[in-house]
Amino acid sequence: MIDLHVHTTASDGSDTPRQVAEKAAALGLSAIAVTDHDTAAGIAEAVSAGAEWGVEIVPGIEISADYQNRRAHILGLFIDPEAPALRSAVEWAVNERRRRNEQTVKALAAHGICISMEALCQAYPHAVLGRPHIADYLMKQGLVSSIREGFTNYLGEGAPFCFPKKRMPMKDAVEAICSAGGIAILAHPLQYGYAGETLDAFIRAGRDAGAAGLEAYYSEHSEADRIMVQRLADRYGMAVSGGSDYHGSRKPHIELGTGINGTLHVPDIVLENLKGLLRKP
Ligand code: AMP
Ligand code: ZN
Ligand code: FE
Ligand code: FE
Repeated sequence: MIDLHVHTTASDGSDTPRQVAEKAAALGLSAIAVTDHDTAAGIAEAVSAGAEWGVEIVPGIEISADYQNRRAHILGLFIDPEAPALRSAVEWAVNERRRRNEQTVKALAAHGICISMEALCQAYPHAVLGRPHIADYLMKQGLVSSIREGFTNYLGEGAPFCFPKKRMPMKDAVEAICSAGGIAILAHPLQYGYAGETLDAFIRAGRDAGAAGLEAYYSEHSEADRIMVQRLADRYGMAVSGGSDYHGSRKPHIELGTGINGTLHVPDIVLENLKGLLRKP
């Protein structure tokens, strides 16, 4: 079994890259992909820990992009983290995050909440920061009882401290991944509110931009969802990928490898098929 969608402390996961590699080994997973939001900073540590523990680490990323004014998460697998096009895409995304984080923190502080960028950076060192960290910080201060509540009451869509963040076009994210030698996958394609023809159009746009696969196996997918995404992949000549979207204690209901209540099983053949795409010219 494998898990090709895993977050670490390099973004908003609670386990370090070393810890996810170790945990994967303990669970008997043969491979995981480290796919942090808008950063490749956790890959090196995970790869070296994976070598020690005998777990294959696929170098990955999950880029927050935009398709027709909705968010679209693009997974990149087998990326070269040093590739210039990917580095500049990541730099743009991280700068935009920084701008939004500063805006959010300023508004929260003006509202009387004890928070600053310095305090956040100290609490989550080396992380590319986002709303989950701010929600976690509010939880540590006792203002909310869970990250979910932090989104509902403060930071989520429609809440008073939700500020927009610019996202790069889906096409740019796919191209950055491809030019870094990676395979681009449309992450959790059923999570964006598309269905029927709009879902097909979204997938065609991703494929036409160069995305080679769809995330069919996913923690929040039912068996029927997985089959539907698999059929869409077949229809458009795409591969499938699969992973849990593990975030450690930041999303405590999702377990590494096995997802929610042990319902996820991503077979090794999924990774073998993706590797087959790498060998094609
Ligand atoms: P950001 O990238 O800073 O905009 O934050 C988005 C992240 O927050 C994603 O990884 C989501 O999984 C997470 N998120 C969004 N809404 C919620 C929610 N209601 N509860 C918990 N996490 C959420
Ligand atoms: Zn996340
Ligand atoms: Fe995502
Ligand atoms: Fe994710």
